[in-house]
Amino acid sequence: MHDSFVAVLSSGSCGNSVFVRSRDAGILVDAGISCREIERRLGMFGAEPAEVDAVLLTHEHTDHNRGARRFCSVHEVPMFGTEGTLSLTPHDGAQTAVFRAGGDFAIGDIDIRSVPVDHLASDPVAFTIKTDGRKVSVISDLGRVTADLKRSAEDSDLLMVEANYDEEMLRSGTYPEFLKRTILSENGHLSNEDAARLCADAACESTARVVLLHMSRENNQAELAEGAVVEALRHKRLRPKVEPTEYGSHNGPFGL
Ligand SMILES: [Zn+2]
Ligand SMILES: [Zn+2]
Repeated sequence: MHDSFVAVLSSGSCGNSVFVRSRDAGILVDAGISCREIERRLGMFGAEPAEVDAVLLTHEHTDHNRGARRFCSVHEVPMFGTEGTLSLTPHDGAQTAVFRAGGDFAIGDIDIRSVPVDHLASDPVAFTIKTDGRKVSVISDLGRVTADLKRSAEDSDLLMVEANYDEEMLRSGTYPEFLKRTILSENGHLSNEDAARLCADAACESTARVVLLHMSRENNQAELAEGAVVEALRHKRLRPKVEPTEYGSHNGPFGL
């Protein structure tokens, strides 16, 4: 029997993957780094590919599915995604399982709910994950927060939320105009302020930790993101640990 934990194998536009280990199952949310790198980083947390029972994809962008085909085919792990995601993700040699955006399914003792999000992708989702009475939300790559998403993230013990950019840094930064507009749009990414609002709306007394995901290396700084989120939570008299992730590197483990 294992203790349950969550480990960020990588986060940021260079590759995203989160490992959730329950008492008797394991899942990867996204596999946006190479198969070899997934194997190596699992090892950093004392885990092996054999402990991964499913790879769940949020959407088809390369920074989320880069290593999925190889990992799933080599280790004979099923690849879960919406029809839109799987239709645009290479998966030859791998077993696939389709879920409906908004649908529920289970992997062993892990209950999963997918939630549709707005992002420039085909049928993208976020996930809430429950195991052994604990709830984790993994919310990244979305341009705006819907009421449905907010509700689904309520009561999370561990809230993992995208804080992609500081709006001031993005607007005054070097990205081309069209790219700035895409990122800022309702199909783009969440700013620090968006993340702060979502956290303040969804967090409660039992929320022990907030982990900030997919932070831009160019358009954000850890202190800005953390500051925005901490302040919004303080207004609600909540003081969970708030931890920005380091771009491209492993973060955690976070116990459940
Ligand atoms: Zn991404
Ligand atoms: Zn994306």
